Amino acid sequence: MTENSGQDAPREKARRRRAPDLNTVYTINEDGSRNFLQVADVKGRWHLRRNITYTVLLVAFMVIPWMSMGGKPMLLMDIPGRSAHVFGGTFTNQDFHLVFFLLIGAGLSIFVMTSLFGRIWCGFLCPQTVFMEGVFRPIERLIEGDRIARIRRNKGAATFDKTGRKFLKHTLFVFFSWLFSVMFMAYFIPVRELVAIVPFFAGHSSALVWSLFWTGMLYFDYSWFREQTCLIICPYGRLQSTLVDYDTVIIGYDKIRGEPREKGIDAGGDCIDCRRCIDVCPTGIDIRNGLQLECIGCTNCIDACDDIMNKIGKPEGLVRFDSSRGFETGNSQIFRPRFWIYAVILLAMAALFIQRAGSRESFQITTMRSQGMPYTIDAGNIRNLYTMHLQNKTDENKVYFITAADDALAGYEGVTYIIPQPRVALPPLGDQQLTLFAIMPKASYSLSEDFHFAITDSATGVVQTTKVRFRGP
Ligand code: SF4
Ligand code: SF4
Repeated sequence: MTENSGQDAPREKARRRRAPDLNTVYTINEDGSRNFLQVADVKGRWHLRRNITYTVLLVAFMVIPWMSMGGKPMLLMDIPGRSAHVFGGTFTNQDFHLVFFLLIGAGLSIFVMTSLFGRIWCGFLCPQTVFMEGVFRPIERLIEGDRIARIRRNKGAATFDKTGRKFLKHTLFVFFSWLFSVMFMAYFIPVRELVAIVPFFAGHSSALVWSLFWTGMLYFDYSWFREQTCLIICPYGRLQSTLVDYDTVIIGYDKIRGEPREKGIDAGGDCIDCRRCIDVCPTGIDIRNGLQLECIGCTNCIDACDDIMNKIGKPEGLVRFDSSRGFETGNSQIFRPRFWIYAVILLAMAALFIQRAGSRESFQITTMRSQGMPYTIDAGNIRNLYTMHLQNKTDENKVYFITAADDALAGYEGVTYIIPQPRVALPPLGDQQLTLFAIMPKASYSLSEDFHFAITDSATGVVQTTKVRFRGP
């Protein structure tokens, strides 16, 4: 044994320590087992900004189900009632086509955001990150200590202290998983009805099953699966390579300034190879290897490296937000053709959505000829039978009057209409099937002809017509 072998051992151990690379997933060991990360704490300006964002989003998530707008829930998907209340507006299943605009708009918004600022969605807005970094990771740190303490305790023997802390942590994890599951369900069941039946959901077995399912999913995700959701399940990271270009602002490492990395200040470039940016990374990657699909844009490495730079008296920004062009040339170009194309499409979709949502009718009519029986002939008359579906799309009781429209089969001799229920009262969002007849003497008939029935909203005077065809032999 040499004299300084005691000092060489930790260095040798550090040298052999596995480093994240571009060819393997750092969170999975060579034998396929999980390399469970213990993410180090970080403080800094981006950490503060993220925490503010998480707090706002978490408060919004918990509070919105309790809020009303115009006497209606602010945001509620009423699946049994086939309707949705969205910021004061009521939408029925007949408005489902608007979801198309919403989905396309949401997709394009993420395209624009990613094209401009990389995976800012993942780091700041994605529920996976917000719950993990805003709730579950802080609980873990509070109970089990910082990274070093957690690693030491996990390696140590089972003691009362260790078991007690684990038990407390997992109890809180289960509680918050359950709480978030119930609050998620409050976007589908009116919250006051929901709180009256929690926690056992007596008489509501499907709600009980859903609450248990989501509680289990969230607990599994946040207690164990964690970053694997982003790495394995989420498709967005894989889309990144098609959305990001040379001018996208990403989180990156300034190779020109940092290399050659050397342990020791002023021994090489500004990077002192301290690995702090790796220790704080929730997906376990090394940002110095360049843009990787595992990077969720969390900004931890920026704060960690800025902290190191401050400690060694070098300027901040060795790891920073910048474009690939910016890292290479010092010049960035944020607003480029790709951005404008996305933005124009997005604005067009938004305008179309607003126009369609704003011009929605307050009631909906669908009229069809009776199936399999175009007409019947009875005592020299041709009789056509129609089935009308009338739906009240408002939150108010409504009365409608049904008549034949002024232009209906004008010019034909002896036409009569039978409307068994000319006055229809419907409750909020209610609907009804109605039967209507048109009768024409056979002698008057020459060709099939379109005509209209008229439906009048008695409260507003709004009239809608519905076109049908009269047929004969
Ligand atoms: S934190 Fe900064 S100095 Fe340390 S290894 Fe990462 S890039 Fe280099
Ligand atoms: S590389 Fe940096 S920004 Fe990306 S996930 Fe890791 S710590 Fe977050």
